[in-house]
Amino acid sequence: MEITFMGAARCVTGSCTMVETGGKKLLVDCGLRQGRDAKAAPVTDGFSFDPREIDAMLLTHAHIDHSGLIPLLVKKGFTGSVYCTDATARLCSIMFPDAGHVQEMEVEWQNRKRLRAGKPEITPIYSVEDALHAVKFLKPLSYEQPVVITDNVTARFVDAGHLLGSASIELSVTEGGKTKKVVFSGDIGNKNKPLIKDPTYLNDADIVFIESTYGDRLHDARDTGEQIKEVLTRALNAGGNIVIPSFAVGRTQELLYEISVLLGEGGIPGLEKVPVYIDSPLGIAATQIFRDSSKGYYDEEAMAFRAEGVEFFSFDTLVVAQTVEESKAINDDPRQKIIISSSGMCDAGRIKHHLKHNLWRADATVIFVGYQAVGTLGRSILDRSKSVKIFGEDIQVRADIEYIEGFSGHADRAGLLEWIGHFPKTLERVFVIHGEDGIAEKFAADLKDLGYNASAPEMFERYDTRTLTGSVPYTAPETEDTLQGLLDRARRIMEGRDAAQSQRMRRELSGLLSRWAE
Ligand SMILES: [Zn+2]
Ligand SMILES: [Zn+2]
Repeated sequence: MEITFMGAARCVTGSCTMVETGGKKLLVDCGLRQGRDAKAAPVTDGFSFDPREIDAMLLTHAHIDHSGLIPLLVKKGFTGSVYCTDATARLCSIMFPDAGHVQEMEVEWQNRKRLRAGKPEITPIYSVEDALHAVKFLKPLSYEQPVVITDNVTARFVDAGHLLGSASIELSVTEGGKTKKVVFSGDIGNKNKPLIKDPTYLNDADIVFIESTYGDRLHDARDTGEQIKEVLTRALNAGGNIVIPSFAVGRTQELLYEISVLLGEGGIPGLEKVPVYIDSPLGIAATQIFRDSSKGYYDEEAMAFRAEGVEFFSFDTLVVAQTVEESKAINDDPRQKIIISSSGMCDAGRIKHHLKHNLWRADATVIFVGYQAVGTLGRSILDRSKSVKIFGEDIQVRADIEYIEGFSGHADRAGLLEWIGHFPKTLERVFVIHGEDGIAEKFAADLKDLGYNASAPEMFERYDTRTLTGSVPYTAPETEDTLQGLLDRARRIMEGRDAAQSQRMRRELSGLLSRWAE
């Protein structure tokens, strides 16, 4: 068996790993690179492998950084099945077309600029139509149901507790009469997350892939419900509108869940009179899927509330804004209200309108429930900039700004250590992926100190289970942007990984430096 890291190696997004065995090629996840990772290695119209040669795909969960390139994979000739849980398939059926739509819109905007500049038009990497076609390749499964992928590979999906339908995947690969277990953690959930179950702990494997998003920090240990109760009480007393930027899938439904539990318990007097708007078509569609996917997905607490008659996603004061007109009408509602809208980091979508209408009001409250990346509008507001620019207009930030950490979808350092701690230290290899460069590296070093044979693989690193060794094919950088990346790689390789590569790298580096110097 050979394993090649095609993405999320020393970065967080673009998850993609290739497993080759028995003459077949499998992919685990095929995600879109986002944010800084996309700038470092932009999505071009191709893959570093031939999609026609991939026999099957396994998908851990619906988040776009794990699933977002599946429509392109299909467009480029992949004809196999994409195995995933039933809830993941349902979520992808709305998220793929949404991603296609976003790309069509972006390209349309860019083409208007290109036209004015006399440049040729570009096409989106995939369209809504491509995305809808890709949905047909999804093969829904239940948790724990073993499935035959190829002649010598079977798979089992177990609940990862990260998003509705999210899974860790265990592959049993038989070669030469011996079976090896390969476990992909997927994104590991935060324990005690509302609505969904805690992550499943596996304890038997030969090779483990573990994510490391928060490998360097610990979350606020307080209960999410307590935090939201405290913050909402304060915001309601302030008297103004409450604006919550939220990812449409996952976070929005967790918020609705917490609000419905508070309503059911009468936890905040007066809350029952305040309308709760969901202003996001994707959020509304996802809420429908969350409502229909209770069996096998909700945790005990959620099932108990449900048995008591608490309706998580259809309480009396809930109002959905599907159309643009309905979205605009929210601002005409003079009552105090809660507005949940996306995007979660405020750099696109309807949330920008609500921030424009409310940020300048001293009685309003903006509640952040997710990570705000550097450079986003959300981050500037969270950092309490005096004013921000929205649609070209300077808007004063006078609203109260709150942040609830408990909603984090990922396990923290303690959670990751607990997850890996169920495996024996004698296992063949642990690969630390899905973490910022320094974090994945440091977490791998920590696991090494604990006695695991762990490393943070590099992009395109190949691992051979027969020789138990890895190698990194050297690819020349194309633009000046990658100078930092090149220097980082050079440093690692020169640290003694491979003498021949080190020499090639040195030659390439000095060639580039002299070319740039000219
Ligand atoms: Zn995820
Ligand atoms: Zn992820």
